[in-house]
Amino acid sequence: MLVVMKPQATPEEIQAVCDHIQQLGFRPHPLPGAQRTAIGITGNQGQIDQGNIEELSGVAEVIRVSKPYKLVSRDIKEEDTIIRFPGTNITIGGRDLAMIAGPCSIESREQGFACAEAVAKAGAQFFRGGAYKPRTSPYAFQGLGEEALKIMAEIRDRFGLRIVTEAIDAEALELVAEYADVIQIGARNMQNYSLLRAAGRKRKPVLLKRGLSATLEEFLMAAEYIMSEGNYEVILCERGIRTFTDHTRNTLDLSIVPAVQRLSHLPIIVDPSHGTGKRNKVTPLARAAVAVGADGLIVEVHHQPDKALSDGMQSIYPEQYEQLFHECSQIAEILHRNI
Ligand code: PEP
Ligand code: MN
Repeated sequence: MLVVMKPQATPEEIQAVCDHIQQLGFRPHPLPGAQRTAIGITGNQGQIDQGNIEELSGVAEVIRVSKPYKLVSRDIKEEDTIIRFPGTNITIGGRDLAMIAGPCSIESREQGFACAEAVAKAGAQFFRGGAYKPRTSPYAFQGLGEEALKIMAEIRDRFGLRIVTEAIDAEALELVAEYADVIQIGARNMQNYSLLRAAGRKRKPVLLKRGLSATLEEFLMAAEYIMSEGNYEVILCERGIRTFTDHTRNTLDLSIVPAVQRLSHLPIIVDPSHGTGKRNKVTPLARAAVAVGADGLIVEVHHQPDKALSDGMQSIYPEQYEQLFHECSQIAEILHRNI
């Protein structure tokens, strides 16, 4: 359900409506950044008895939202969500594309710094690096854990890059939320509802990757889990899905970008690295992602990809990233966007 406030409603009136909703046993969600103040109401009892909300001072109208996803929907908030990073002019979801790059995993302080220096030089605003890795084999490199988080905190200080890193479980989430600027939830965890809820209780933006075989609706419902806990800063990420095709690791489904943008106000970025699994296909698909209207790119870059402990085959060299960056910024310009 959606309560639309009158344009002249005061903060006190908005608060009174939120309190009323809470007293009825539901959760009010006054979404930030919407021009008209709209308060989403969620509850788990099915049909919500709207009581006398309509009669409260400052309320313009009460609308039922019939879609299964509510807070992620443009029905609740028409304006695009723009995520801001305090103390910087970096945004995700605005006119500027978010360029996130770095190695799949942090392997050592030297390796992390070498990769960070390269992506900062190319112009990226965000550094990615895995501290906790969801590996197919339990015997493969699992990440350096908190040590990697500490290295990335140093990288933020040294290069001014915001840090994006994955939380694979509730335990990792606590540390990731402490050190990182953006909490990544990986494809394999897209339907780990308890982890989604826990991330929703953190007050840091969440980068949610699409599950390996998730439909658009399942993807949006996963974002809804995070938002239903009061964290409205969710970034969706297309990272390729499983198909019969075997010339790439996954099939990058770029058509989901305009599909998401039609239904949701949340930003959506693209990962051409996991989306293809092959170094020589990363830049072409990155260009396509920008052309299709993605709000940013997350790319695996390694200074020595042949020695990488994870995802070396799809990691591009620093020079290739510079070229990718240059080509993508030219495409972005045509769309009146900046990188
Ligand atoms: C990653 O970003 O390194 C990763 C493991 O991604 P995904 O969850 O999309 O496989
Ligand atoms: Mn990876």
